[in-house]
Amino acid sequence: MIGDPIKSIKETISVVDGPQGDGGELTRGYLVGKDNLAIIDTGTKGSLDTLFQEAVVNRNKNPKDVKYIFLTHPHPDTMAGVYRLKKIFTKAQIAINQKCEEVAKNPKNVLKVKYFKYTKKERLYFAIRKDPFDELERFKPDILFKDGDKFDLGDGKLMVINYDSHCLGHSMFFYTTERTMFIGDALSIYPSLPHSYLIDHSASYKQWFSNIEFLLKAKISVLCPAHDLEQEGRHVKPYIEDVVRAFNEFESQLVMSMLERKFLTVDDLIERVHSAQGIKWYHPYNVLAPRANMNAHLNKLVDEKKVKRNDKHDPVTYTYMASKKDWY
Ligand SMILES: [Zn+2]
Repeated sequence: MIGDPIKSIKETISVVDGPQGDGGELTRGYLVGKDNLAIIDTGTKGSLDTLFQEAVVNRNKNPKDVKYIFLTHPHPDTMAGVYRLKKIFTKAQIAINQKCEEVAKNPKNVLKVKYFKYTKKERLYFAIRKDPFDELERFKPDILFKDGDKFDLGDGKLMVINYDSHCLGHSMFFYTTERTMFIGDALSIYPSLPHSYLIDHSASYKQWFSNIEFLLKAKISVLCPAHDLEQEGRHVKPYIEDVVRAFNEFESQLVMSMLERKFLTVDDLIERVHSAQGIKWYHPYNVLAPRANMNAHLNKLVDEKKVKRNDKHDPVTYTYMASKKDWY
């Protein structure tokens, strides 16, 4: 980690950076507000506890002034710190989207089964490597919010914007102070790598696009992701556009692969597109992201009637149907 793990990007917005993940992704949370303080995202288990305490002291506040712990979504790298933080900041209410109520009751299983559709391959992999979902245990949210809900933090309001883009119930928070948007994992995961977006099995590419369109139209002065550096001013729009471009390039490459061979499985397609585009994922995303993303891309092409899913094949294969003219 280069630089100070705690820094103020604006008077009432501090960034708290813990250790980096295998792909260089930041374990990052934010402390915002003036009279009422709020934590946004908690990092992995134990990664940000003392840093958040320090950030509160830096503001001349005490732990009781933290009134909320807002979670953009229930993945381990944004949520697993919640259990200890709740013990440190005893007045803080845990707030998450109402669509995540089921996950809160049994995060380990719901995430493995519904959000990431573990197959035998994933189970074997995580039997050897550390399973990030094992950091999660049942928790009881104090607040179940929905799209459009607002919270007063003293100097400004925090508004919930929900698209099921990265996963079901994924929520961004718009903070009226400095027109700041906390985007969770709505865009990319790895710093400065626009192709590292992730659309898990509980999300949809349609919602993902709606989220992007919303971000492109919104007047945002500061963009705060969960794993990458914040972007300000004129850097905000190109940052979002780069991710859209990466999505479209992925799709072009996917179609190219299918034009070369008629019946390809999801694994074939992942291998071809990833090697052609130089896409590399690191633990634990190397197991979580490729199949989820490929699934999202294929669903889009199937919905557009450009690709046919051959359900009779075992394993299932995909074939490009639209005429080549449509493409070139
Ligand atoms: Zn996530």
